[in-house]
Amino acid sequence: MDMFFIEFRDPLFSIIVFFAIIFMITFFSYWWGRYKRSQDLRHLDRFLRQFRSLPSKDELQVLISSGELSEKSWLLLANSYYKNGDYEKSIEIYNEILNVGNRANAKKTMFLLGKTYFKAGFLERSRQIFLEILKSSPRTIQALHYLLLVYEYMRDYKAALGVLEPLDELDEDITLVREYLQALEILNNINMDSETKIEKLLSIYHQNHHLTYLIFEYIFRMSPQIAWENLDITKSEVLTEVLWRCDRKDLNLDIISKNSFLRELYSARGDVALSQKSAVFEFDILIKLQNRANATLSFEYICSECKSVSPFAFSRCSTCHAIDTAQVEWSLSRDYSKDFSEENNSFQ
Ligand SMILES: [Zn+2]
Repeated sequence: MDMFFIEFRDPLFSIIVFFAIIFMITFFSYWWGRYKRSQDLRHLDRFLRQFRSLPSKDELQVLISSGELSEKSWLLLANSYYKNGDYEKSIEIYNEILNVGNRANAKKTMFLLGKTYFKAGFLERSRQIFLEILKSSPRTIQALHYLLLVYEYMRDYKAALGVLEPLDELDEDITLVREYLQALEILNNINMDSETKIEKLLSIYHQNHHLTYLIFEYIFRMSPQIAWENLDITKSEVLTEVLWRCDRKDLNLDIISKNSFLRELYSARGDVALSQKSAVFEFDILIKLQNRANATLSFEYICSECKSVSPFAFSRCSTCHAIDTAQVEWSLSRDYSKDFSEENNSFQ
């Protein structure tokens, strides 16, 4: 016992107790800090998760009908979903606005809904929406343009051509779109032989020399000699890719020798030696290389209206829906077909 009291009164014991208390306080404050931090993070996570996940259809119904946000705010939100490609959410919002929203703005909302259905690929629903709009307001030009597009995408060209009549009455310029739809109708007609198709396509082409790519891509595939004889040479640049891929045996040297662009193009490809140089950089390089390198031309297309770029030729821009606005751009690239044929020859 004595020993204990002696040690209890010992200053060393007090120091040990003091440090033990400091250690315990430090340990608990460290543990409490960690616990608080994890709780804060969990709370923050829960808070942020509600912004990452989209509201469900039922939640949207409650939110829109509660009227906490104005109709304009909901339309802006639907538009931002549309721009991000989340058409399903955009459609849900438009449908809900039509259910509970202001009837005065119903036509505008219906138009936006029809546009979103079209963009999402629900063509039949889109068609019904635009027909509904036109039933009450037959002079809505934008709805008529979209209805025409829907019919075109459905390949119902007769119905699309039918939409041109009211557009014409509303003083819209329909010359190009009529020629375009007529050409599509001919090209997609499975009961028409290729000679009749060529004849009809050429009669459309000779009216205004529009749709050079759409018409001549087909004719060059079916009958290159007829294509050469009827091609407006001043428009040959737009057909550069078709001409570049034209078979050597199908070339019309009489026509090629009369036009500087064609002379340079086919000298660059190595079929003729009618030009020693070219103002077009890529042609000039290929002429000077004289087939000594595995180089060829690759192509891409730019819409002159909206500047969107596509690796494939188009007659109607998929972004702005303008017709005959594709401009061809070419660049030098490696000729993989030559690589392949050389590899095959090395095995022989
Ligand atoms: Zn465009």
